[in-house]
Amino acid sequence: MTEHDVIVVGGGIAGLTAALTLAHKGRKVLLVEKNATCGGLMNSFTHQGFRFEGGARALVNAGLVKPLIKEFGIDIDVLPNPITLGIEDKLLRIEGESSLEAYGSALKDLYPGSEADVDRIVQAIRSIISDMKVLYGVDNPLFSKKKKSVLAIAPSLAAWMLKFFRTMYRISKMDTPFEDYLDTLSPNQSLKDIIGQHFFRKTPVFFALSYFALYGDYIYPRGGVGAFIDTLADAIRKRGGGILTDTTIVAVDAGAKSITDVSGNEYRYNKLIWTGDLKALYALSSVTGLSGRDQALFERRKVAILSHRGAESVYSVFAGVDLPPETFGQAASGHVFYTPDRRGLGNIHTGKLEDLLRHWDTASKDEVYAWLRGFCRYNTFEISIPALREPAAAPAGQTGIIISALFDYQLTENIRAAGWYDEFKRHVETEFVDTLSSSLYPGLKDKVLFTLSASPVSIYKRVGSSEGSIVGWSFESDIPTVSSMFRMGDSVKTALPDVYAAGKWVYSPAGGPTAIMTGRIAAKRCLKG
Ligand SMILES: Cc1cc2nc3c(=O)[nH]c(=O)nc-3n(C[C@H](O)[C@H](O)[C@H](O)COP(=O)(O)OP(=O)(O)OC[C@H]3O[C@@H](n4cnc5c(N)ncnc54)[C@H](O)[C@@H]3O)c2cc1C
Repeated sequence: MTEHDVIVVGGGIAGLTAALTLAHKGRKVLLVEKNATCGGLMNSFTHQGFRFEGGARALVNAGLVKPLIKEFGIDIDVLPNPITLGIEDKLLRIEGESSLEAYGSALKDLYPGSEADVDRIVQAIRSIISDMKVLYGVDNPLFSKKKKSVLAIAPSLAAWMLKFFRTMYRISKMDTPFEDYLDTLSPNQSLKDIIGQHFFRKTPVFFALSYFALYGDYIYPRGGVGAFIDTLADAIRKRGGGILTDTTIVAVDAGAKSITDVSGNEYRYNKLIWTGDLKALYALSSVTGLSGRDQALFERRKVAILSHRGAESVYSVFAGVDLPPETFGQAASGHVFYTPDRRGLGNIHTGKLEDLLRHWDTASKDEVYAWLRGFCRYNTFEISIPALREPAAAPAGQTGIIISALFDYQLTENIRAAGWYDEFKRHVETEFVDTLSSSLYPGLKDKVLFTLSASPVSIYKRVGSSEGSIVGWSFESDIPTVSSMFRMGDSVKTALPDVYAAGKWVYSPAGGPTAIMTGRIAAKRCLKG
């Protein structure tokens, strides 16, 4: 049995941030990761000379990533990651908030008769962005190295706090699902779909509408997202931290303060930070030896956590294409949110999908494929082309392209259980490629060298994330963990003594930035202890 000050379970961005913070302070830290490499939902892989991001296509800085790179002296260049928004043949390269006006004009052209609605929506986006700037506009103090005297910063701090709390109040009022909010601004369903269909169902309105400002905040690490992850892992090792890969933790004994891996090896901790699936933590923990009060508290939390579901997952198709990057660059930048048809999804991803799942026992393959065709035609795709940010990401004269859309886990799991998963994957690959071939990238399908898939089921298998979720809890029911910015500091607490949690399951809305923040908070809690 080995002993450590802190053990971090999970080598995604939350676990890496936590372990690096602790190793930097000289703590004896061990990070344990079930896969052969760290990164979790932030990784890159290479196939036949083409580099792809398997998870997040780029990093959202959010006042966190660049300060983290600076604080720990991480040796990585970041490249610009310009975003294009596209609907049919209208393509808009986003250049900060000034592009909002142009976005409004494009929407007015696409939806004649709804001009006043578009003005209302653009105004709502502008007002939410100005609120969010108060929160995101400065580098996060969690990563600030500068220690200034409180007296020196008091006047500006007081003004900032006033603005901050007024903003927080306004934001807390905007916690309703964006679909409901858009209903108050327009009756035009297609217009509303186009604004919001690439967000998770029932995303809080402040988050969905402020996303326009985040488009300018994406950065791409040279060498890919995976290279950034590798430099974090190296930085942990350089500071004496241990990283154990290919090691899955299958039991936590909270009474004995030890964890056990799948091969039966035991590791004792003084503090534990869990960044894997929160349902798994509560399902595999034993509380024997804890006080009756602690056991009761744990059982109550366990029931609450296990009864909730993750948000929708994502389906990604990776294609190697025998065309040079410039061909794609003429159409749009290397990171695109594109909708091939202005009519939008309507109820295809909601009512029609629910119907299909409800009568699954009698549903035919043809029915599923017909649904898939509509899903692809009217949906919004996220498209990423690494070679347009960095030519070395593909063989000379060729291009790798990643096409993805939010996707339902249950549908994919039903298909896998029914035995036609591989056939379905080939079908999705063809539909995704054909859709873009007949819209944004004419002729694409004739130049494809290979395609690969990552489905919601593969995401579940890789990182063990319930329902293949990439951002934690679904917004469709109440959130069983912290979702108020006022309480973010509490998000890392669990119902187990000396066990903290971090990452996408502990705070909502989640994603890369909140995974970093909660990893940092959990590490600080351990340092205090
Ligand atoms: C296609 C895609 C696009 C995305 N785009 C964006 C975006 O634009 N913006 C954004 O903010 N976010 C985006 N995300 C989401 C973001 O990548 C994740 O929310 C974030 O990376 C989560 O980090 P994490 O450390 O909390 O969890 P994870 O990355 O899931 O890491 C958890 C780690 O724990 C390991 N683990 C789990 N259980 C065990 C166990 N029992 N024993 C040992 N190890 C274990 C897993 O293998 C994994 O490595 C995207 C994700 C995907 C997949």
